[in-house]
Amino acid sequence: MKKNVRKAIIAGNWKMNKTRPEAKALLDELKPLVADVKGVEIVACVPFTNLETALAAAEGTNIKIGAENCHFEKSGAFTGEISADMLAEMGVEYVVLGHSERRQYFNETDETVNKRTKAALAAGLKPIVCVGELLWERECNITEEVIARQIKLDFFAISKEDVKKCVIAYEPVWAIGTGKTATADQAEEVCAFIRAQLAKLYDNDTAESITIQYGGSMNAKNAEDLVSKTNVDGGLIGGASLKAPDFTTIIKAAENG
Ligand code: PEP
Repeated sequence: MKKNVRKAIIAGNWKMNKTRPEAKALLDELKPLVADVKGVEIVACVPFTNLETALAAAEGTNIKIGAENCHFEKSGAFTGEISADMLAEMGVEYVVLGHSERRQYFNETDETVNKRTKAALAAGLKPIVCVGELLWERECNITEEVIARQIKLDFFAISKEDVKKCVIAYEPVWAIGTGKTATADQAEEVCAFIRAQLAKLYDNDTAESITIQYGGSMNAKNAEDLVSKTNVDGGLIGGASLKAPDFTTIIKAAENG
């Protein structure tokens, strides 16, 4: 299967930004800019407090709404947490899981990413599972070992049917929010490696069908180069997703990529 039959997905990760009126304003600005986009799935992953506003603003448009995390239990004594069922019931479609900021600041591990991924799938959500190496790990030449381990653990005991509902975001930690982007060749190399790991764990057809995004300081200037690569099927975008014109440029680059 070739790149042109995989779904390109450009997802914004708003992180801890935007009040509800600001969220509505950003989506209202984005809607007409991307209304004619074809062949690219557009997703805005927003803070929990913005979900209802974002779902209403995106209704009837080609913009899907995602959350930035979910808990792995269905319900119970987990103060401050949100379950996958709660998100699905609202009409949320996607959820970012295992983002490096969650791993770094909130002690998330591959084990909890695996549990969250299973919970999200059980609720009917599409997980965007983030993997990526630290700068130190890249310098020590163990990027592939790190990524192989994350893929194996994050997707442990997830069936072939279910993994096909997932998106994987390759996000080198050293490139997130730093302004340092992986070169298109570096992104391609690791995205191709992820696909090869999926082929080993599942099979070739499954691996070829999964959307693998690049994330890490992707912006209006470098997007075209990144998404033109065979194994880079779109992007997970932080900072640049907060500016409608820049996010649109990235989306249009993926349309042509
Ligand atoms: C992200 O938050 O997933 C991300 C890639 O951020 P940025 O684009 O700002 O580096």
